[in-house]
Amino acid sequence: MRLHSRQEVLAGLALFACAVAVGLGFGALGWALFIAMLIWAVRQQWVLGKFTHWAERPLKRLRIGNRALQGASDSLHSALQRSRRRTTKALRQVARFRGVNAALPDAAILIDSEGAITSFNKASAALLHLRRQDIGNNLGALLRHPDAVLLVKKQTPEPAIEIASPFADSQRLELRLVRIGEDQDLILARDVTHLNRLLSMRQDFVANVSHELRTPLTVVVGYLETIKEDAAMDEATMRKLLRKLASPTRRMQALVDDLLMLTRLESSPTPALQDLTPIDIVELVDSVVDEVAGLTSKKHRINRRVQPDLHLLGVEKEMHSACSNLVTNAVKYSPKGGDIDITWAGNGDGARFEVRDQGVGIPAEHLSRLTERFYRVDLAGARVRGGTGLGLAIVKHVLKRHNSQLQVASEVGEGSCFYCHFDAVQLQVHP
Ligand code: ADP
Repeated sequence: MRLHSRQEVLAGLALFACAVAVGLGFGALGWALFIAMLIWAVRQQWVLGKFTHWAERPLKRLRIGNRALQGASDSLHSALQRSRRRTTKALRQVARFRGVNAALPDAAILIDSEGAITSFNKASAALLHLRRQDIGNNLGALLRHPDAVLLVKKQTPEPAIEIASPFADSQRLELRLVRIGEDQDLILARDVTHLNRLLSMRQDFVANVSHELRTPLTVVVGYLETIKEDAAMDEATMRKLLRKLASPTRRMQALVDDLLMLTRLESSPTPALQDLTPIDIVELVDSVVDEVAGLTSKKHRINRRVQPDLHLLGVEKEMHSACSNLVTNAVKYSPKGGDIDITWAGNGDGARFEVRDQGVGIPAEHLSRLTERFYRVDLAGARVRGGTGLGLAIVKHVLKRHNSQLQVASEVGEGSCFYCHFDAVQLQVHP
């Protein structure tokens, strides 16, 4: 950088020329030159001082009467502005990344090539109980699990392992190693307890369905084999055997129907308001009672106490299925001739639907599990009575889709009451 521009040099020369002229005119050239030099030196000092002061904090553009320094300070200022803009952008990105990292539900821990923790996110504190003091400590040792030690040492055959959490009973953790560079790795940890539970529920469900289908299927295959192998079988025997096929076939059909219904209820979205129609509960209960009475010879007394003007906004087919399951159960699990009371009545903040029987009742410890698929209090008894084990699961889903919930009160040997409440918004009064 040149400290003096041409203009500066010319101004200097002009100053000295004036000094020479004035000095010669007054016969004091020495003094004149001395004063000119002093002026020049003071001005240079002032310019340098101003520049130095600005250079310490070059935030604003410098205004200085020196072209060369002005040019230099301008380009320095522009470069600085550019660099500040880049730094601000980078800082914003880092802050955003930090925010994302902190919001991650999974733990993310950076470790060095020795397995020592270099940093970790917020979720690591909750999931792996990591604290600030743990930085620098070996992650494998902190997790106190042999497989985790091997993972941190990069000695596991797979990059992901599953371990029992050392900090919470029955919690399962998945740890995944992600290679980042030569001297840095990322360990991701997440809670897979819920996922595992879902997987095992699915396996149980498939096993249950297979088991439920196998029994009637074995009966059907057995009869068909007998018919096939006995070529000389008379027609009357064959008809008798064919009639025996009806019951297991119906059982399989009921199971498949219930499974399809349940799948539809679970997978379809909650019905929108425009899909809801006012359901006349008197008609609904009458048709259910007719159907159920036709299926049993036990001759129960089914008493109906239904408020006729109160209609339920819902999906008729679904509500019919729920009501039918509850009334069928009441019939199945109560003795011949027993009383069954069906009630639908408005109360202060909505309405209550209830099916009450005086049947076998349910021990208290089973109540919370009744709506699980295939859950039966007395498996052998339920099979004899011909249930699929899916009825109450269907009721639960139907009610959920109608913003309600199934409740049960029961006494062994006294009977059971299955009931639910509907909010006023779900109702329509038809005078
Ligand atoms: P199932 O087809 O076996 O009846 P559900 O899902 O309808 O299946 O009912 C689950 C279990 O709840 C039944 O196996 C039975 O043990 C019990 N249960 C349901 N309703 C009644 C009732 N009204 N009285 C006594 N037990 C009942």
